[in-house]
Order: sequence, then structure tokens, then C-alpha cells
Amino acid sequence: AKKKGKNRYLFYSDELEQRRIRNAWIEQHLYAAISNGEISVHYQPIVDLRTKEISGLEALARWKHPKSGFIPPSEFIQVAENNGLIIPIGSQVMETAAQDLKQLHEKGFQHLYISINLSLKQLKHSDFIKRIISLPEIYGLKPEHFQFEITETVALFEDSDLIRTIKKLKEQQFRIAIDDFGKGFSSIGYLKQITVDTIKIDKSYVFDLCKDKEIAKLTNAIIAMANFLQLKIIAEGVELSEHVNFLNKYQNVLGQGYYFSRPIPFDQITTYLQKHSK
Ligand code: C2E
Ligand code: CA
Ligand code: CA
Ligand code: CA
Repeated sequence: AKKKGKNRYLFYSDELEQRRIRNAWIEQHLYAAISNGEISVHYQPIVDLRTKEISGLEALARWKHPKSGFIPPSEFIQVAENNGLIIPIGSQVMETAAQDLKQLHEKGFQHLYISINLSLKQLKHSDFIKRIISLPEIYGLKPEHFQFEITETVALFEDSDLIRTIKKLKEQQFRIAIDDFGKGFSSIGYLKQITVDTIKIDKSYVFDLCKDKEIAKLTNAIIAMANFLQLKIIAEGVELSEHVNFLNKYQNVLGQGYYFSRPIPFDQITTYLQKHSK
């Protein structure tokens, strides 16, 4: 047992070392990636499960390195948050998304909103927030055409400046969604405090929905609570028709996942919308 423990430790430190090397590579190439236009935005539809209508699109950052190919956000977003590059990356994503949404509105999809991920670093950046507030006027859109997704963390709810910023955005009529709900720190009390309007149920719940009775019960409870607080619900990671059938029992639940579409580039989104609109 002792030997196994030692091997495990070695294996673990080896993994840490590889992660460190990988992060250094990412950090080294991320600067150039931003100025060379290697960062783009893909979109994933958010769908009304009952009517099958598309209500919004989540904007997701993509990095395609000329030699190494796609580097997933799970790898580079964390690095960008640590070294501050999340500000220029986040700006690019936000401006691109706003431009693309404007185009879609001009093509007749005027009900659509765009949903943009924000990290705490972005929320704390006062110029970034100012830019957000000016977006509707700049692009000729309404605040309700923008949703901002904020991942729930303890840090978020303990920081009164952050809570104030979120309130300010909410007062301007922007949509605010809590991302990855139920994954980490979840508190109903805090949810009320920051007056969000949507929760996104983490995909780990949806994955286990049909396999695990306890998870199904918990999901029931989350949806009941959200309804009671008059919050909208988006279920993430909807991959199977079983997921759709389970979630269809509820009113006002939106879904997002591979069942409907993977995140796809802008030109493909236009085609997708044309095909799936009545
Ligand atoms: P997230 O905000 O939870 O985004 C949803 C992730 O789930 C995306 O991964 C999406 O591709 C994936 N996904 C969607 N449907 C399914 C499904 O049915 N099954 C499975 N297994 N996965 C699904 P992605 O694009 O790799 O992004 C990972 C994370 O990176 C995001 O998680 C988000 O936290 C972060 N991120 C991405 N773009 C941005 C950005 O522009 N700014 C910030 N701050 N974070 C971003
Ligand atoms: Ca998200
Ligand atoms: Ca997130
Ligand atoms: Ca999420």
C-alpha cells in the first residue's frame, strides 16, 4: 500500500509538472494569439424545450493556434484570468458577439439575445463594465439582448463591490445568469441578494438525470426553488432525448447542449437558425 501511495504521489507531481509546462506554453503564446486574431467566437443555441424555439445564443471563446490547432477554453481561460489577458480576450468576445447579434437582428431574428461569460476579473474591471453599459447604444440593441453568465463562487457572494456591479447591470436591464448552478457553492439566500434572473443548471446534473434517482430529485428541487423565486432556468449539457423528455415536464425550462447543437461558428449559426425557425 505504501508503494502504491508513493507511486501515486509521483504520478500526481508528474501531472502537476506537465500542467505547469503546458500553462507556460499557453501563457507564452496567448499574447500573440490575441493580436493575430487567433481567438474567435462560437455560438451554441439556447432552446425552449417545449416550443423548440431558439431564445438565445451562448458565445464561447475559441483559440486556434496555427500549428497546434484548437486549444480548449478549459485550458486557456484560467491562464488568461491569472495573467489578466482575460480582459482583452473578453473584450474581443463581447464585441464580436454584439456585432454578430446585430447582424442576426438585421436578418430578422430580432428576439435573440446573446449570452456572454464573465469572470470575476472582468466584473472587477471598471472600464470593462463601462463598456458593457455602452454596448446597447453602440450596436443599436437593447440591454435585454445581452445576458451575462457569472459562475457562482464563494468569492462572488462575499464581495460587496461585485454584488453592487451585478445590481447595476441588472438595473440597466441586462440579463444576469448564474452559471454552473449546483456545482459548487449554492445558496438560495445569496441568489435573492444579487437579483439574478436566470440560473443555468450545471451539466453534471443533466448527465445523471436519467441514471440517478437522487439527482433527479435534486433537480426537481432546484427547479421548484427557481420557479418559486421566479427565476428562469437553463439546463446545460442536454445531450439525449431522455434529457429533453425529463425536463419537458416543467414549464419555462430552456435547454442547451449537443442534442440541439454543438457550439458552431457564426456562418453556421445563421444556417441553423434559418432551418430551425418557423
Ligand atoms: P461554460 O460557461 O459552462 O460553457 C459550457 C461548456 O459546455 C462549453 O465548453 C460547451 O462547449 C460545453 N457544452 C455545451 N453543451 C454540451 C453538452 O451537451 N455536453 C457536454 N459535455 N458539453 C457541452 P467550452 O466551450 O469548452 O467552454 C468551457 C468553459 O470556458 C466555459 O464553461 C466557460 O466557463 C469558459 N469560457 C468559454 N468562453 C469564455 C469567455 O469568452 N469568457 C470567459 N470568461 N469564460 C469563457
Ligand atoms: Ca457559460
Ligand atoms: Ca462559466
Ligand atoms: Ca456552465
